[in-house]
Amino acid sequence: MDLVRSKLLAAFPHGFTTRRGGVSPPPWDALNLGGSVGDDPVRVAENWRRLEAATRLLFARVRQVHGARVVHLDVASVPAEEADAVVSTEAGIAACVSVADCVPVLIADPGSGAVCAVHAGWRGTIAGVAAEAVRALARISGAPPGRLLAAIGPSIGPCCYEVSPDLADRFRAALGPVVREGPAPRLDLWASNRRILEAAGVAPERIDSMDRCTACERDTFFSHRRDAGRTGRQMAFIAPHDLTAGRALP
Ligand SMILES: [Zn+2]
Repeated sequence: MDLVRSKLLAAFPHGFTTRRGGVSPPPWDALNLGGSVGDDPVRVAENWRRLEAATRLLFARVRQVHGARVVHLDVASVPAEEADAVVSTEAGIAACVSVADCVPVLIADPGSGAVCAVHAGWRGTIAGVAAEAVRALARISGAPPGRLLAAIGPSIGPCCYEVSPDLADRFRAALGPVVREGPAPRLDLWASNRRILEAAGVAPERIDSMDRCTACERDTFFSHRRDAGRTGRQMAFIAPHDLTAGRALP
């Protein structure tokens, strides 16, 4: 199973899944982890089983609603509770979010081992879900925001994310120069989330913007925009670093 990882988060069991390593046929080929995109639930369950086996983790999932709510879950769960960021403080339980262009942000506290996974499309980004996640993780773990590490994972890049002039204006007003001009404005959600994390107190050098575009990398990632909605979902996940057990990384 191919997982993309951030060097900055190397001490934590974490990853961004890719299309590779699953059993689903086109257009969900192959490691589709989304349960409501038209794929056969039996195949999706097998894909999840493979992810659990490859990582030796269990997954705390939420029903994502493009908001800014953060929940603290310490048990594995199917998507039921409505939220767009998940905190885990239990070794072996991965906080995770599902994406196919939206920005996944993984945040970790190397002091306590606590972690958070964030789902930030344009709505969540402008609602400040990444800042809410920093505040929640800091409160729960006792970490000053400056101690946190963050990785901005594979998602649609400013190369490909054309938006309406109105939406571009909203982002300029809220976050500054995060729009690339051209025949159609293109929104930089990576820079947007970096600015939000920095404003929330995360140190610039402790943010890894991975600059991997889901729409450009057809063979590697699902992209809702590129595939006109007929596609699968990849997961971004991170589990607490167990400070006592020295648990091996998957
Ligand atoms: Zn691109």
